[in-house]
Amino acid sequence: MLVGDVLAGMTAAVTHAARTGRAVPDARSSSPATCGACGAGAAWHRTVRGRWVMIEPGELPARVVPAGRRWRVAGDGTAVNLGPAVPSDTCRVSHFDVCPGRPAPTGSPVLLALWRGHARRVP
Ligand SMILES: [Zn+2]
Repeated sequence: MLVGDVLAGMTAAVTHAARTGRAVPDARSSSPATCGACGAGAAWHRTVRGRWVMIEPGELPARVVPAGRRWRVAGDGTAVNLGPAVPSDTCRVSHFDVCPGRPAPTGSPVLLALWRGHARRVP
């Protein structure tokens, strides 16, 4: 494919988005990723503060996740740290809290179990 064709396609996509009011995929949507430290699959999400965090797939019961490590992914893909709040029964966790490339998490048997599960897969 010629570069000109690619540019034309991009312009068409942006024009279409502008006309329909629908957002083109951007930094706020999640993007699948593989952790460079351990090879686990997770998804990058942008936080409300503009930082990026890898969120583990799947949900956990919020009560087994320590306050401050509970995350929620908003409808637009933004990752929100819940702090001590428990707005629902379940929450997500950051891969950074359970990555075997980092020190084992303390204070939560569930996070430690996830950390060990990832560690088992690392050669
Ligand atoms: Zn990792």
